[in-house]
Amino acid sequence: MVLAQLGGSISRALQQMSNATIIDEKVLNECLNEITRALLQADVQFKLVRDMTTNIKKIVNLEDLAAGHNKRRIIQQAVFNELCKILDPGKPSFTLKKGKPSVVMFVGLQGSGKTTTCTKYAYHHQKKGWKPALVCADTFRAGAFDQLKQNATKAKIPFYGRHVLSESIRLNLYTESDPVKIAVDGVETFKKENCDLIIVDTSGRHKQEAALFEEMRQVSEATKPDLVIFVMDSSIGQAAFDQAQAFRQSVAVGAVIVTKMDGHAKGGGALSAVAATKSPVIFIGTGEHMDEFEVFDVKPFVSRLLGMGDLSGLVNKIQDVVPMDQQPELLQKLSEGQFTLRIMYEQFQNMLKMGPLGQVFSMLPGFSSEMMPQGREKESQAKFKRYMTMMDSMTDEGNTNPKIMTESRIMRIARGSGRLVHEVMEMLEEYKRLAKIFSKMKGLRIPKKGDMSSL
Ligand code: GDP
Repeated sequence: MVLAQLGGSISRALQQMSNATIIDEKVLNECLNEITRALLQADVQFKLVRDMTTNIKKIVNLEDLAAGHNKRRIIQQAVFNELCKILDPGKPSFTLKKGKPSVVMFVGLQGSGKTTTCTKYAYHHQKKGWKPALVCADTFRAGAFDQLKQNATKAKIPFYGRHVLSESIRLNLYTESDPVKIAVDGVETFKKENCDLIIVDTSGRHKQEAALFEEMRQVSEATKPDLVIFVMDSSIGQAAFDQAQAFRQSVAVGAVIVTKMDGHAKGGGALSAVAATKSPVIFIGTGEHMDEFEVFDVKPFVSRLLGMGDLSGLVNKIQDVVPMDQQPELLQKLSEGQFTLRIMYEQFQNMLKMGPLGQVFSMLPGFSSEMMPQGREKESQAKFKRYMTMMDSMTDEGNTNPKIMTESRIMRIARGSGRLVHEVMEMLEEYKRLAKIFSKMKGLRIPKKGDMSSL
């Protein structure tokens, strides 16, 4: 993820400053210059970056700070707060309500990832206990309906739509081509079927043009959506400001989803530009797959960006990737501060099965870079498998109580698993590190499934 590079550069600048024996103006300036460079590379607007560094310098008045104050912490906190300020787009004014059908209309340019995002959004809510349905009112792009149908079928989400006219003529089919009529019929159909989240995918265009905005307005007038979500490709960087403004002026955009945050150096610029239009960003797309989709919340996002972890995001992720029947017990144990070797084993097992390991590990403070180095997922998977072989040769007692791990026991495990003693020790060290991280989850409030405060 390219954003990880931005986060990495900022964290490194902060770390270098922390390594300095004395923090004086020169050291602070060097650190801020590094951060400025990283943000400009991510296409964050120059003025935002300049204001940010000015504010930090104002807050961190080195001379005024009494001796004994932890300057590093104050500077780190100031960087954190200022980044949050730059990225904070405000809160959305609408939240979905259980038991009442909500119509959510998606708008955006062609290629922005709108159709993919509609399914991701539906799938995300389906996992949280909602009953979503998809309506394809994109009659402009040939193949849009088939794409939505294919994705919806895969995710077992009901869908409604028609082939576009040109295809219908080719296939000799009679179909409806009026997007407004399709949208209205689809919404009516799913209201009757008691779906509580009806998602309408509308047509995109190659660029902002009158026909697109007119069609958007007509579909919106006819379906009366409770929420309009604007989908935007992050690769346009700070140009996102103008695009978000243009859509806001044509239709009542209530929330924004920024896609392709996985592949573009300009992601940070796009997010900050949208925030500057005061349009609430609710999710980000981080890949082509259905579950490469994350709730966007500024503080946890910045926290992760700076390698400080995101424990509440971790709970959400566990709910996404851990099989349903294992979740209550696991979350209960973690919230009690328990993290046994057995839990570690089961989680490695889950993660090897479920795939997106990096997504889970990036939520852990100080964990992602060491355990899951970027682009080296295969090696990490091999490491998990190695650890699991060693754990397989432990007795049950040893599995649940690593404290009784004597020298002879360690040698027995090494012999039993055909590994070296130092490898067993390394695995136990990893366990201790993980246990320490998870101990921070003690007392964490665990949101119930379906308890959706976010959109
Ligand atoms: P639409 O024309 O706006 O409906 O765009 P599509 O949904 O067809 O997406 C266009 C392309 O972007 C497809 O190849 C998608 O797989 C891809 N895409 C969508 N979202 C993401 C994302 O978050 N990350 C990446 N890497 N690709 C994405």
